[in-house]
Amino acid sequence: MKIIMLGAPGAGKGTQAQRIAAKWNIPHISTGDIFRANIKNGTELGKKAKSYMDQGLLVPDELTVDLVVDRINQEDCANGYVLDGFPRTIPQAEALDEALKSLNDSLDYAINVEVPDENIINRMSGRRACLSCGATYHIVYNKTKTEGICDKCGSELVLRDDDKPETVQKRLSVYHDQTQPLIDYYTKKGIIKEVDGTLDMEAVFNAIVDILGE
Ligand code: ADP
Ligand code: ADP
Ligand code: ZN
Repeated sequence: MKIIMLGAPGAGKGTQAQRIAAKWNIPHISTGDIFRANIKNGTELGKKAKSYMDQGLLVPDELTVDLVVDRINQEDCANGYVLDGFPRTIPQAEALDEALKSLNDSLDYAINVEVPDENIINRMSGRRACLSCGATYHIVYNKTKTEGICDKCGSELVLRDDDKPETVQKRLSVYHDQTQPLIDYYTKKGIIKEVDGTLDMEAVFNAIVDILGE
């Protein structure tokens, strides 16, 4: 099963993608996590990506597309994957389609997690991220057992720099300009599925399970 997650920053794409990946035993591929891992390891790609991410801008397509195409061609993706945070622009979506087409393949579902802008700032300021394993938590809606420590791997959690309100505003406007058009794009392809992301995490996941089938 090949799935992409659409939705504003903070809509809950990562939270749901992790659960999908666990239930269907497919890799969860988050471009944001890949960039953050590169920043942490001080790679060339990380240095380039950071300058965009810090400003709430998208990393250019030429730094993003090949990385994802290489990743989905790895062996563990043979039975499918859930892409979280990619594609984020029409050229990225077209490049993904081309890459799949050359393998005689295509996406199964584009799940759009809908959350209005007014809920997003609150979600983001309460988000705590594990930069080691990619898990995310929320100080109210999804608490860790021990404050500030990842339940999954024991690393210390952080408030991402780009989750501060000024940057979140910028990211939201970038989302509306560059990413929201993908909803139309995948609607035309007939694979879009909408879920109400304002429900609690469990209810959102149940809605997704209804779409994908047990
Ligand atoms: P969120 O989950 O809150 O939407 P991500 O972790 O997906 O945030 O992304 C963080 C940042 O990484 C983005 O603001 C952007 O700068 C960069 N990024 C992630 N994925 C992409 C992509 N597909 N294209 C361009 N930039 C990306
Ligand atoms: P995205 O990957 O779309 O940026 P995340 O999955 O990281 O979003 O979720 C953003 C923040 O909101 C996190 O702190 C997460 O714990 C929290 N969150 C996710 N889904 C829900 C939900 N349905 N209700 C309340 N909070 C949520
Ligand atoms: Zn962790």
